[in-house]
Amino acid sequence: MSFTARSEHLSFNRLTTAGFSHAVSNRSWGSLNPFVGYNFISRLEANLDAGSKPLAERLVLPEEIHSARVHACVSSDGGSIRLGVDALVAVHPELIAIIYAADCMPILLADDKTGAVAAIHAGRRGLLSNIVDNTMAALTANASATPSTVIVALGPALRVCCHEIREDIFPELEKAGWMRYVQERDQRYYLDLVGGCRDALIAAGIAHSQIEDCEVCTYCDSRFFSARRRTADDERGASFAAMISAR
Ligand SMILES: [Zn+2]
Repeated sequence: MSFTARSEHLSFNRLTTAGFSHAVSNRSWGSLNPFVGYNFISRLEANLDAGSKPLAERLVLPEEIHSARVHACVSSDGGSIRLGVDALVAVHPELIAIIYAADCMPILLADDKTGAVAAIHAGRRGLLSNIVDNTMAALTANASATPSTVIVALGPALRVCCHEIREDIFPELEKAGWMRYVQERDQRYYLDLVGGCRDALIAAGIAHSQIEDCEVCTYCDSRFFSARRRTADDERGASFAAMISAR
């Protein structure tokens, strides 16, 4: 069951070519934080054509607590928020797996062989705790996906141009083997979250050529919401969303 974005959005050639309904919203849709205000569903409805089943019955959201936990959706999960997780695996085409973010990276994965999908809320803490590995394992175990046929889309995120970090997180990065993703410029330190994420995907068996990166930095590109660049006009917790459904 497909869905179509009616409004301006970001999409990925690889996912489109493989026939996966997906979209990344931008500022023009309004903020899509499900925990702030009561506009989440109405804003999505205004910008998406969800087909014959009501959108509110198709959506599945992770709570997003910067964990590395993954939920494998069952068909009755439509219209729910899965607590305590940051990634979803979905095999039922009527479900729309959706991630909300503002600087953390939404990652959309789709297995071209089985039609199964996954969506990850990838921030520093989740990535350091191996959320990419966990999601690939869940996609393999619950949806019979194989890494060689999985396509990956890397969404807008705070990139190394703008992701300044403080030295007090160095021990945490060191422990996870992530110091190689730290860059120094003018005595300031920046984290290449996307580089770390890409390497985790490749380590999980995804070919470099199967990864499509939109290359958008949320701080540099004001079409997207950014927690670090939040303006006075933005709502509390202003977020954009990335969504995908199984084929
Ligand atoms: Zn930037």
